[in-house]
Amino acid sequence: FDQREGTIWFDGAMVPWRDAKIHVLSHGLHYGSSVFEGERAYGGVIFKSHEHAERLKRSAQYLDFEIPYSVEEIEAAKDLVLKTSGLQNAYLRPIAWRGSEMMGVSAQGNTIHLAIAAWEWPSYFDPATKMKGIRLDLADYRRPDPRTIPSASKAAGLYMICTISKHRAENKGYADALMLDWEDNVAECTGANIFFIKDGVIHTPTADRFLNGITRQTVIELAKRRGYELIERRIKPEEIEGFSECFITGSAAEVTPVSEIGPYRFTPAAMTKTLMDDYTAEVQPRAKAA
Ligand code: PMP
Repeated sequence: FDQREGTIWFDGAMVPWRDAKIHVLSHGLHYGSSVFEGERAYGGVIFKSHEHAERLKRSAQYLDFEIPYSVEEIEAAKDLVLKTSGLQNAYLRPIAWRGSEMMGVSAQGNTIHLAIAAWEWPSYFDPATKMKGIRLDLADYRRPDPRTIPSASKAAGLYMICTISKHRAENKGYADALMLDWEDNVAECTGANIFFIKDGVIHTPTADRFLNGITRQTVIELAKRRGYELIERRIKPEEIEGFSECFITGSAAEVTPVSEIGPYRFTPAAMTKTLMDDYTAEVQPRAKAA
């Protein structure tokens, strides 16, 4: 992935993709002092770029460091990266981390770096295939208690157990893993939030202990616009069996129906399809007011 053509924004400069390198003694690599974003551009416009830039800044603050660029500067840098890529539809990955001046747990004086890359990452599936739904395994690892880690931060360290869980799921033939929280409530997937539907009502776990996704917030808004009843609450795994529809949301995953969670089956139906279509419409760039 590091040997391709392209340009990466790196600490304020546009550098060739292959040359966007860091030192092996970077604090971010050794101690997980790294935060990132995942966002998509549609028709040459980054969806909710401002919200993603704000979250990136906030994620760093949770880890006790300040990204040395303003939200507006980050947005401008992302726009430049997108424009330079020549892509209309793209995935963008900004990442910030502590540098290599000091090696040790403490890294008070280390330089904070920021890099932004963009590449082509088409929607996982076409809409028809998508409607068949993906299969989820139940993960062994739990999402951690916010008292043990800043779980509202999109920090690299929070993904360690996600990668392990996703690999285990993939090795068993599943697309992804559903993770419970430390109190055994349904939490989220390894890179997406989750929603369920039963008797025309949408249920989703309260996002006070895992990433409150920007897509999740968008979909909640879209559901409200449709007049759908939506409840945010604790959901126990025993309840999964009783839901008729299920879907996951994320900047990369967009709105993706789920057909199975372990032994349980779902049939993606009208409400899921409506929200999927509404999301597709919502992300399209709107003509800017002059
Ligand atoms: N949870 C996790 C663990 C994620 O990695 C993501 C993707 N960023 C999400 C939820 C969904 O967040 P968003 O909708 O902001 O992409």
